[in-house]
Amino acid sequence: MRGMDRLLELQDIDLRIDRLEHRRERLESGAEVAEARAAMEEAEARLGELRLAFDAVATEQRRLEAEIDSMERKAAAEERRLYDGSVANPKELEALQHEVASLRERKGRVEDDLLEAMERREELEARIAPAEAELAEARARLETLEREAGEELSRIAAELAELRARREALAPELDPELLELYEDLRAKKDGIGAAALVDGVCQACHEKLSALELDRLKHAEGIGRCEHCRRILVLA
Ligand SMILES: [Zn+2]
Repeated sequence: MRGMDRLLELQDIDLRIDRLEHRRERLESGAEVAEARAAMEEAEARLGELRLAFDAVATEQRRLEAEIDSMERKAAAEERRLYDGSVANPKELEALQHEVASLRERKGRVEDDLLEAMERREELEARIAPAEAELAEARARLETLEREAGEELSRIAAELAELRARREALAPELDPELLELYEDLRAKKDGIGAAALVDGVCQACHEKLSALELDRLKHAEGIGRCEHCRRILVLA
């Protein structure tokens, strides 16, 4: 049968084309890139939340500081009135003393709040730098994957073009009947329509042919087939 000696070459080209097409589909579906993008967006969101919380606590800190400052000034002014002789009435003096004590007490509570806010601010500040580093890393990974996917797709396109040209040149070397059977088997049998017969073993299904079948194959005209998987056998 014409072209029998080129059939395995064709099979090899076709398998390589299949593998490249499969890889191209995976790259084009962009699963890896999508995952990296999701991770980058998560890192972005985490950092955003940290910065918002940090800004809020910084605002709170400034508010508390202003409040303490105002309480301090008020208490100092009242204290001055206690001793500058402007208040002589004992009842009034007592009320003033009470007022000063109460102001100092409230100021103490606000100072506690301020300490808490400062601690929280420091804690948030310490978490921002690692979150920034994490985001930078996630961004770099996404960029690398996007660039590499683009480069690999270009390489695949070039390889596919070359293989298809070789296939186009090779196919006419095969008898049309042989080619048709091969294509038909390829479609039904995981892309493999032809296999070599090595030491009496079919290299597609790895089954050994019977001695009788082997003898028949060697002397038969036409297309030899594996008695097990029915693929076309090419005698080595
Ligand atoms: Zn077989």
